Amino acid sequence: KTLVIAIDGPSGSGKSSVSKEVARRLGLAFLDTGAMYRAVTWHCLNAKIDLKNAAAVEAAARTMRFEQNLTPDADFVKVNGINVTEPIRRPEISQNVSAVATNLGARKELVRRQQAIIAECNQRIVVEGRDITTVVAPNAEARLILTASEEARLRRRGRQLGGTQTAAQLAEQVLARDAKDSTVVDFQRAADGVFTVDSSELDFAQTVDAVINV
Ligand code: C5P
Repeated sequence: KTLVIAIDGPSGSGKSSVSKEVARRLGLAFLDTGAMYRAVTWHCLNAKIDLKNAAAVEAAARTMRFEQNLTPDADFVKVNGINVTEPIRRPEISQNVSAVATNLGARKELVRRQQAIIAECNQRIVVEGRDITTVVAPNAEARLILTASEEARLRRRGRQLGGTQTAAQLAEQVLARDAKDSTVVDFQRAADGVFTVDSSELDFAQTVDAVINV
């Protein structure tokens, strides 16, 4: 039986770790679509492709070889055979990823790749991102937005980055990025038929339960 769970939400909402745990518990594959936008960004910086050159970025998204492990426990991302799992999380990537996210040609190509991955998994997968409930998998069996207050999101991202960022840097990375991304995808408001789970007052286990119960 097919079971696609689509999860969208802003950065720092706990989307990735919650989605992974939901996939583990239900025995589903897991796809982090943000990693794909990050991988394209990494590739452009690495290959000295100008992120402002929309046509070049779109071409990069089309031609790069992209491998992603879809098991929640050992997820990795490779670009043209290079393991970029760690480098795509660096602040430099977070600061530049909106150039890819706002490139409509690149988006179209990534959505196409994501839909192919869902089909390859026989539609038994948890997919998380910004446009999954609306564009990538609008017919998913379960669609939800995972949100949290600004304060909770900044706190979580800060912890994830191991306290290496100042409050101002964190705010720039989390809030400014979401503001830029919102210009192309609306992930802050649930579309018709999409549930909202607010994790501000929930711990990790409670959030996972809330998602599974949707
Ligand atoms: O989820 P994560 O923070 O890793 O996503 C990185 C960036 O990728 C987001 O800030 C957003 O710009 C972009 N993104 C997107 N659509 C998705 C997933 C991510 O535009 N489905």
